[in-house]
Amino acid sequence: MKITAIKGMSDVLPPDSFLWREIEERARKIFDTYGFEEIRTPIVEPTELFVRSVGETSAIVEKEMYTFEDKKGLSLTLRPEGTAPVVRAYIENAMHAKDPIAKLYYFGPMFRYEQPQKGRSRQFFQIGAELLGAESSLADAEMLILLHRLFQGFGILDVRFEINSLGCKTCRPKYLEAIHQFLKGKEKKFCDDCQKRSKKNPLRILDCKKEGCRALTETAPTIGDYWCEACAQHYREVRGLLLAGHVKFKENPRIVRGLDYYCRTAFEVLCDRLGAQNAVAAGGRFDGLVKDLGGPDVPGIGFAIGMERLVLLMEPGTRYQVPGTSIFFALLGNEAQQAALSIMEELRAKDHCVVSAYGGSLKSQMRRADKLGVQRVVILGENEMQKGIAIVKDMKEGTQKEILMGRLVEELG
Ligand code: ATP
Ligand code: MG
Repeated sequence: MKITAIKGMSDVLPPDSFLWREIEERARKIFDTYGFEEIRTPIVEPTELFVRSVGETSAIVEKEMYTFEDKKGLSLTLRPEGTAPVVRAYIENAMHAKDPIAKLYYFGPMFRYEQPQKGRSRQFFQIGAELLGAESSLADAEMLILLHRLFQGFGILDVRFEINSLGCKTCRPKYLEAIHQFLKGKEKKFCDDCQKRSKKNPLRILDCKKEGCRALTETAPTIGDYWCEACAQHYREVRGLLLAGHVKFKENPRIVRGLDYYCRTAFEVLCDRLGAQNAVAAGGRFDGLVKDLGGPDVPGIGFAIGMERLVLLMEPGTRYQVPGTSIFFALLGNEAQQAALSIMEELRAKDHCVVSAYGGSLKSQMRRADKLGVQRVVILGENEMQKGIAIVKDMKEGTQKEILMGRLVEELG
């Protein structure tokens, strides 16, 4: 029986893996310049963490989680997103006691049981960042400026930033009530999913992608009319700071985000080149989350970029470094192999990429060297061993010379 990868989970093979590395390296450099530090959390967490943070009525918890029991009957879930694990780690390690502000970034796989299609898989990677401990609108703006900077760093200039404010505990309930009133008597006209949402999480109706539902919500009340003064002021400040930071954005009152923990600033980064799954990054403020999960009352804001969608936007033509083999050792016989090993190690210690074949005739080994496109080949067979020399071939020039074994490392640089 052939064993294949699980549906919706794919391999990242070379040379694509070099592009992934390039993306991560560029992102790390940019995170450094904003004072963000890397955090690595486990891939599996207690199911409860996501139920309590992401929310029981969110699409993720309702139907997308990979949940299973371990040998002791504990319910575990493969993380569907990165914010809840970061907040869990922040509380558990009392990070707030060491520094009132934490700026953390992460790379890693996330898991959601969704219908696989272009730009949507069951294991996907995210690059994410969270800023904990700052309530100021400057934090919101800086996160968006950082996100903007990342896309510039990736060479993707045709993304759109869309922002909204979801209000807070004071003003959101009033908006929810208005949406309730608006939906009254109209529920049956919406799609099946929205009919369910109208009972449990009516804001998500605004997020529905179906034309029919979108038309129905055209005249729905907009959140901006319900913001309390503090939320309105915060949103004004964020907009002003974004303008000062040269981030172009569009205001989109329909952005509600599918996760329960968001408040105030919410945003998405979109690109038309992606087709139906057009969001490449998203995020927002989550001021009550740390407290809800048993930590101190610390505000937070974060974002996550979808790596696969990012890669779709970068290709083709993005430059990335493939190290490339510089020296190939054609070794004939066990004695030659033994003699070569320490020389190969010395060259690697000098940062050369040094490889050999694992047996075969001289002819087949030379063919492999050719295929790898190496600059130089060291030939070491019985004859050479007896004479205490090696033949060094320059593949570009087509020349060769005999070098004393003791001088090889020096000769090859
Ligand atoms: P979508 O509207 O596409 O379902 P989402 O709101 O569920 O997105 P978030 O939870 O905000 O997505 O995740 C942030 C980013 O992660 C998305 O913008 C997207 O780039 C990526 N992402 C989310 N789910 C998937 C998936 N199943 N496959 C690939 N990438 C994904
Ligand atoms: Mg989704």
